[in-house]
Formats: sequence, structure tokens, C-alpha cells
Amino acid sequence: MEYRKLADDKISLLGFGCMRFPVLDNGKIDEDEATKMLDKAIKAGVNYIDTAYPYHNGDSELFVGKVLENYKRDSYYLATKLPMWMIESVDDAVRIFNEQLKRLNKDYVDYYLFHALDKERWDKIKELDLISVFEKIKGEGKIRHLGFSFHDSYDVFEEIINFHNWDFCQIQFNYVDTEVQAGLKGYKLTESKNIPLVIMEPIKGGALAKLPQEVMNEFTSVNKDWSAASWALRYVASFSNVMCILSGMSTMAQVEDNLGTFNTITQFTEKEHLAISNALDVFKKRIKNSCTGCRYCMPCPSGVDIPKNFACWNRMSMFDNKSLVSWSISEMKKNNSTADKCIKCGKCEKLCPQHISIRSDLEKVVKEML
Ligand code: SF4
Ligand code: SF4
Repeated sequence: MEYRKLADDKISLLGFGCMRFPVLDNGKIDEDEATKMLDKAIKAGVNYIDTAYPYHNGDSELFVGKVLENYKRDSYYLATKLPMWMIESVDDAVRIFNEQLKRLNKDYVDYYLFHALDKERWDKIKELDLISVFEKIKGEGKIRHLGFSFHDSYDVFEEIINFHNWDFCQIQFNYVDTEVQAGLKGYKLTESKNIPLVIMEPIKGGALAKLPQEVMNEFTSVNKDWSAASWALRYVASFSNVMCILSGMSTMAQVEDNLGTFNTITQFTEKEHLAISNALDVFKKRIKNSCTGCRYCMPCPSGVDIPKNFACWNRMSMFDNKSLVSWSISEMKKNNSTADKCIKCGKCEKLCPQHISIRSDLEKVVKEML
């Protein structure tokens, strides 16, 4: 296992994300199997364990805290997060933090994050001066390092990064999403400010674990032995300011595959970088239309969510995987915003800066996706 320096700790490059443990028929964590998975990972050298208040409806913190009782407190680094959407006052924040310590049954948290920051949640942090509140808690020794996880546009990221001397931060990053959210630009900003990174979604929520054959061909022509997931993880690992890569493992097979990858991480070669860029070219060719999601065409008088239909259609085609968008499709069906509700009035097409033939593309969406 490779270790990198996060703040003043030696952290395993693979971190265990505790949001997707195996579950039983009743939806509760399958504690026997999940314990075996955590034990296997920890024994193989994983020492960064990442949970959060809402994971598994609140059971993840309790469960993780229990499993970690079997290990010396200074042998692992525990990360958890403040659910910003539940915070209306300083009292809320402090109460929830104390509840988390209780759930985890620990005196301190090594890495504490403001969870899933976007513009609105960031404004809440400033309004309540939560950074001072948590820096004070850090001073009391109950938090060792303070950071945040992030899901919004680059501009918001830049503001947050420049506002405070953060110990670390956590962003979504993978070879497909280099221009999404903080992206590569955000990566470079953290590097220039010496703020170490923890990475989430390195496999894009599983989308990069199973690739269309023509994409996979680009990879196998360079290395036959690496799985699609392994390519995605190795790409992220090739960035030197990435100190830990989180993987939300759901099965023992995934734990073993990840350990295999992280035990043989090598610096990416030029050939391997080229394979990634060739794979991206293939992905781009699979995109159905050039919708940017700008929403200039909205609202549709018939209720169609035009950008969402196109986003799902493009995603499904890119990854050749309908299951990646089935939840979004069912949400659209619930609120009657699927492409089949189009009455072909043409209003939207006059407003689209990309000059997309929205009506005929929506017909294709109906045929191919609904
Ligand atoms: S053409 Fe269809 S999608 Fe476009 S505004 Fe009219 S009803 Fe909505
Ligand atoms: S205006 Fe065009 S590019 Fe923008 S969301 Fe609508 S269809 Fe997509």
C-alpha cells in the first residue's frame, strides 16, 4: 500500500468510503460481511476510514465506530462530516458534532468536514461563523484537521479555498469529470495553495467500472491486466496532490480488486496517459447531442425537462449503461417531465444557443431511452 502525507499524517492512498456497505433484505448494514471487508482492508494497510452523519440512514457512524474498537485509536484515521443541510444555528452544529462523537464512541475525529458544500451551504457557514466554532473545537483536541467536501461550480470552490487556511479538502475527480465542479482547475488551485486533497467518485459512482467495449479496447491495447476500475483509480493516483482516494466498497470482491490495484500503483507512463485521452475521445463520440444544460430553453409549456432528458440520454449512450440513469428517469416519470410529453410547439428551439433540433432529438430519447 502506498502512503501519502495528509496534513501531518501518513495516510493510505486507498481510503475506505463507508456509504455503500452491503445491506440485508431489511436495508440494514450486513454487519458480518461489512466487518470482514473493513478488517481485510485495514489489515492490508488501509488506514483512512471515511463516514458521514447520513450514511446508511445514520447507521454507518455507529457501525464504523464499533468495528474500530478492535483497533488501537492511533492506528487509523477517522473522517466524518457535518450534515450542513441540517444546520440552522451554531447550537445545531455543536449538538450534531457531539452526537457524532457519541455514535462513533470516540473522543476525537481525525478529519472533520463540512459536508457537500455548495453556494447556499457556504453562505450558511459564513453567516453562522462555523469556521471559528469548529476551529475552537479543534483547539480543544476533538478534531485534528478541518476541511470540507464540495459539490458546486469552480467559482464557489475558489471562494471557499481562498477564504480559510484549510487543512485539506475533498472533491469529486475522475478522468471523465476534469471540467465538472472543482475539476482540474480546482485541483491546480489546491496544489498551488498546498491544500492536500481527498478524492471522492474516482470511478464516477461505478460508471467507470464497466465500460463500452470500444472504450475498453483503448485500455487493453496498453495493459490487458488492469480492470476498468483500476484504470480510473490509477489515473487519479497519478496526481501528486491527491493524498487519499476514497472508494465506497460494497463487496469483498471490490475490496480485493482495489487492494490489488493499490498494491501495484506505479507512476502513469506517457502511453497510459495517451490511453486515457484516446478513451475520452471515444466517449465524446458516443455523446448524442451537444446540450450543455444551460436551461435557456426552459420552461417548456408542456412540462418537459429538456436538459435532464438530454443529460440522461447522453450519459446512457456514453457508458452504454441504462441502469446509470434509471433513477433519474423514474423521477422524471413521477413529475411528468419525460420527453414523450413534448407537444412539438417549437418554442424551445428558438432559444437554444447550441441550435439543437430539440423536437427530433426528444423523439429519439423516447425511442431509445423511455
Ligand atoms: S417543442 Fe416540446 S420540448 Fe420544446 S417547448 Fe414545445 S413542448 Fe416543450
Ligand atoms: S437551451 Fe439547448 S443547450 Fe441549453 S439546456 Fe436547452 S437544449 Fe440544452
